[in-house]
Amino acid sequence: MTSRGYVAHAATSALVPYEFARRELRPHDVARDVLYAGICHSDIHQAREEWGPSLFPMVPGHEIIGVVSAVGAAATKFRVGDRIGLGVFVDSCRSCENCRAGLQQYCTKGMTPTYNAYERDGTTIAFGGYANQFVVDETYAVRVADSLDPAGAAPLLCAGITLYSPLRHWGAGPGKRVAIIGLGGLGHMGVQFAHAMGAAVTVFSHSAHKRDDATALGADHFVVTSNPAAVDALDERYDLIINSTSADIDLNPYLRLLALDGALVIVGLSGVPVTIDQQLLLRARRSLAGSQIGGLDEIQEMMDFCAEHDITSLVEVINADYINEAWTRTVASDVTYRFVIDATTF
Ligand code: NAP
Ligand code: ZN
Ligand code: ZN
Repeated sequence: MTSRGYVAHAATSALVPYEFARRELRPHDVARDVLYAGICHSDIHQAREEWGPSLFPMVPGHEIIGVVSAVGAAATKFRVGDRIGLGVFVDSCRSCENCRAGLQQYCTKGMTPTYNAYERDGTTIAFGGYANQFVVDETYAVRVADSLDPAGAAPLLCAGITLYSPLRHWGAGPGKRVAIIGLGGLGHMGVQFAHAMGAAVTVFSHSAHKRDDATALGADHFVVTSNPAAVDALDERYDLIINSTSADIDLNPYLRLLALDGALVIVGLSGVPVTIDQQLLLRARRSLAGSQIGGLDEIQEMMDFCAEHDITSLVEVINADYINEAWTRTVASDVTYRFVIDATTF
């Protein structure tokens, strides 16, 4: 089927309108009309080759909410009219230890990303969610409750799960002190989740004007990091600190703030290698770790958690012709807190 979207043809070019073919339905596929697609900072990193060489033409987008418009002959998971979500991967090997454990994002043979990748046939370029239609194997889509605002739910598919997963893995909950560095698309989801899980939440932000938003989202404390002395002067200790910034920041001042056995988890991916003072790890048996999105079961769990706790992303809904400006503003941390594209405008 012919779909309309927006494409980047090269790392230095602006996104422009694009017509391209989606595959015909395979037996286990579902087709859906896209409702909203979120703009993740990873879209920008990849289109601009900040993580290394990318694959062009690139239709970005991996926070996709849509309504099922057709189902394949053997598809049983969804019906026409169901609201479903699709995130950062559209396939994986399905047989490795991690896939079998529901951790498709850590597939040992490599997950198939939603874009900037070849599909598993090794030749077809995967086109992402900045488009009016999508076709995907039903296994890789999740159910989205009708009670959730669909625009606000789109960012859950990447920003949401990327914070939900480490918060769960490292046991955020009552009695735990959690800090989130960066109140962006990812960070503002982390604050809501950690608060809903019962943890005490601190936000480290280089944007002083975000204080009131952080409080409204559930933060107990807010520290402005543009003055490094403010961080160095802190006497607090945290069990879990999640770095969700898109920029190359010095992590050492935050390692010092971890309690005994505390963990600093990196989810933000500037693409620039970090330097660590090892003594800061040794002195309190601290861990430095990374975490990547979440598996299908956990995405569904998060969706249900959001429906239960009435959690969605704060979004600015835009038309497709505003994408380039939205990218510029995202890089400048000038978005409250996620741009979401109205897919009827492609
Ligand atoms: P975003 O909405 O642009 O938010 C990033 C935040 O980083 C900004 O809001 C800002 O927060 C902070 N920041 C930006 N520039 C900074 C600077 N120069 N110094 C200090 N802080 C700065 O980006 P996002 O979509 O949340 O993505 C964040 C990062 O996570 C990106 O690198 C993205 O690629 C990565 N990511 C990783 C995964 C994963 O699976 N691990 C998934 C999705 C995204 P303040 O204004 O509050 O300081
Ligand atoms: Zn993303
Ligand atoms: Zn696998």
